[in-house]
Amino acid sequence: MLELRNVCKKFDNKIVLDNMNLEIRNGEIVSMLGPSGSGKSTLLNIILGLIPMDSGQLLFEGQDISRVSMKDRGFNIVFQDYALFPNLNAYGNIAYGLKNQTRGFSKAELEELIDFLELRPHLSKRIDQLSGGQKQRVALARTLATKPKILLLDEPLSALDGVIKETIKTRIKAIAARYNLTTIIVTHDPEEALTMSNRVLIIDQGHISQYGTPAQVIHTPANPFVEQFILKQLEIKRDNIYHLFQKCHA
Ligand code: ADP
Ligand code: MG
Repeated sequence: MLELRNVCKKFDNKIVLDNMNLEIRNGEIVSMLGPSGSGKSTLLNIILGLIPMDSGQLLFEGQDISRVSMKDRGFNIVFQDYALFPNLNAYGNIAYGLKNQTRGFSKAELEELIDFLELRPHLSKRIDQLSGGQKQRVALARTLATKPKILLLDEPLSALDGVIKETIKTRIKAIAARYNLTTIIVTHDPEEALTMSNRVLIIDQGHISQYGTPAQVIHTPANPFVEQFILKQLEIKRDNIYHLFQKCHA
């Protein structure tokens, strides 16, 4: 279990995360949902260990990891822009994290992952020869190969178009199940959050607005922000919520 206790963060005297308390159970897919600028990426990067919090505590499996380095936490992220190395081909990117590592995938596990993500035909391609969806699978493979204890995904669908989005959603769920991986997904899209995750954390200007299952969020929105944010962005009427809800559990 990952626990956040009273996590606070300011940038230039502006409060970005205001006293966040949160628990994420092992094996769960949790989406962090909120409008642009609400603090989602900051929270993700604090969990990763890339940026420090001002105050508060982070616990993993009961241990205080607040001061543990990014490397020693053993979590890993797929950044929104993938951050692939342009000087390496697809395979070079996928295998990159395994150099000088004891924890990562074995050769056999890596081969299985390459097939699981259907990357075999693309291994020798340069990064600029890959489509958006292929780049994302390479980035996912590179991250998964390091055997992260928690997988963090920052806006994994935002750079992709409609048709491929559904495939990626299914794939992310399959990966979480296949590797029994705790997965935290940042998104500004309510439909993505509600259809991909076991629980949704709704963030409004650095505050937790609601944390619950998709069913709880849909049926009992905690406050007008949740209701507005979800209903407005989905542009749905109450009747259609049930259709969406069925999709959540498809
Ligand atoms: P989100 O991912 O929800 O769009 P962010 O976590 O990126 O939001 O940003 C939250 C707020 O913190 C924004 O107002 C943003 O401008 C500010 N912010 C983020 N990173 C920095 C930084 N490195 N320096 C100063 N301000 C930042
Ligand atoms: Mg962001």
